[in-house]
Amino acid sequence: MYKHIKKFIPFLIFLGLFSVVVATIEVILSIQIKNIIDIATNQLSGSFSDEAIKTLILAFVLLPLVVGLAIFRGKFLKKALERYKHNYLNGILKKNINEFNQENNANYISIMTNDFDQIEKNFLVPLIDLIHSLTNLISGIVLFVIISPIILLISFGLVIVNIIISVIASSPLKKHTKERSKLFEDYTGYIKEVLSAFHIIKTNNLEDKVKQDFHEKSKLVQEKGYVIDKISSFIFAIQNANFTITFLALFLIVAFMSIEGFISFGVVVLIINSIEKLVWPIINLSESLPKMFMVGGIVKKLEESLKNKDNYLETVEFNDFEKIKFNNLTFSYEEDNYILNDVNLELESGKKYLIIGPSGGGKSTVLRLLRKYFQPNSGDILIDDVSLRDIKKESYFQLISNIEQNIFLFEDTIRNNLTLYKDYSDEEIYDAIEKAGLTDFINSLPDGLETIIYDNGKNISGGEKSRIAIARGLINKSKIIFLDETFASLDPKKAKAIEKSILALKNVTIINVSHVVFREHQNLYDGIFVVNNQKIIPKES
Ligand code: ADP
Ligand code: MG
Repeated sequence: MYKHIKKFIPFLIFLGLFSVVVATIEVILSIQIKNIIDIATNQLSGSFSDEAIKTLILAFVLLPLVVGLAIFRGKFLKKALERYKHNYLNGILKKNINEFNQENNANYISIMTNDFDQIEKNFLVPLIDLIHSLTNLISGIVLFVIISPIILLISFGLVIVNIIISVIASSPLKKHTKERSKLFEDYTGYIKEVLSAFHIIKTNNLEDKVKQDFHEKSKLVQEKGYVIDKISSFIFAIQNANFTITFLALFLIVAFMSIEGFISFGVVVLIINSIEKLVWPIINLSESLPKMFMVGGIVKKLEESLKNKDNYLETVEFNDFEKIKFNNLTFSYEEDNYILNDVNLELESGKKYLIIGPSGGGKSTVLRLLRKYFQPNSGDILIDDVSLRDIKKESYFQLISNIEQNIFLFEDTIRNNLTLYKDYSDEEIYDAIEKAGLTDFINSLPDGLETIIYDNGKNISGGEKSRIAIARGLINKSKIIFLDETFASLDPKKAKAIEKSILALKNVTIINVSHVVFREHQNLYDGIFVVNNQKIIPKES
């Protein structure tokens, strides 16, 4: 955040200078009004019409400047928030896949909505107000140094008292605001879950439980908001009382000075007119500061959410390979609970491998390691003697395809879902469609490839969805294709045909994890491995 704010310093300086110009003209205008009053009451000699013309000119100059300042503030706010959100999204996209997957992604949704709302309301707007207040305060100080230093001193007392109140009060506010942000996360996550599980909830009569859980979570968020409002109102009430008392004292002093003849009538009006130049910025500062402190906790949380624990520097580009080797590889998700223990395995480029084994045996884990989602605890995956850890993700991901168990389809045309927004010729697209057994399906659609898929594939069947994923995996001509239970949701006839066409791909390494094994296809594989009891061993035929 603070790093982010740095980029806006030139804007903030410009805003500051702009405010200084406006404030200076306002001060001169106040002095003009004082002069006119003193001329009118014969306490000052001078030409009324000269002063009146000067005053009018100043007023005309001021008007467009004030409007311009307001427009500039609005523009700055819009741009700052836009950039900040943009940078946050960039940060999310830089997260390591495994670290991202470990968190509930509702947290990010909550940050992008609730927390950014807080940052706008309680950081950016007060930041602009702060600059505006400071320039006004300075112009107020200059004015009062000229007309009445005593009043300036009294006002300073007011500043100090209010800053002390702000600082003391901001500490519980900061804590509660951070807690509320956490509650919002929980609340957003719950709503996401309810909406995703809608049909389970309806068909199992879970409505009452959902209502009750929702009520509790929603209540917690609201209650926290209430506590924050209560503390804020309390602080502002004390500050207001402090202002009212100080104001009254100031009035009495000014009245007394006028009676005693220390100041002219014009000065009395000037002080009454300008006292807001001192008081208003102080009120503003004492309101802005606690708000800005309060958001500090959120900003910290936001930055934490983007941190990658693993920042290993990858150095090697991936182009092509001869062999992949598991070298005494050991892996566990959690300490001591080994999924693979001291495993050795060799896979050759262009060959086709089938990986089988009991459910929970670690088949998908083997693929996750090969896809660089996770790192081994010890041992290594070597690609032609280079550790996979050293290979740059971007270059590696370009040359591998994942056909995963959980398929995601964008709300877009079938074409875009196949190409993932990259350029392919129609020939390449239809070739992939053919190999994935999708030709008949696409031909049966009135809009063909331009048919829109809704809400992650609601308007197509599970089998069609997985065949789209297969075509997507085939289209980018990867060196390695990883399949994870891809055929599970297809009928055997279709599955066999697709498996056959995939196994016929030349110069492509296939690693197929599957519990669906077609006997007649077994000899099409160059190797079949069983993953079980922390080991990977060749299947005995
Ligand atoms: P398979 O694909 O053979 O069914 P997996 O490789 O998915 O098995 O899982 C192997 C074991 O690792 C299982 O016991 C599973 O519970 C555990 N596991 C899988 N993913 C994670 C994870 N992200 N965190 C912790 N344990 C996991
Ligand atoms: Mg699995």
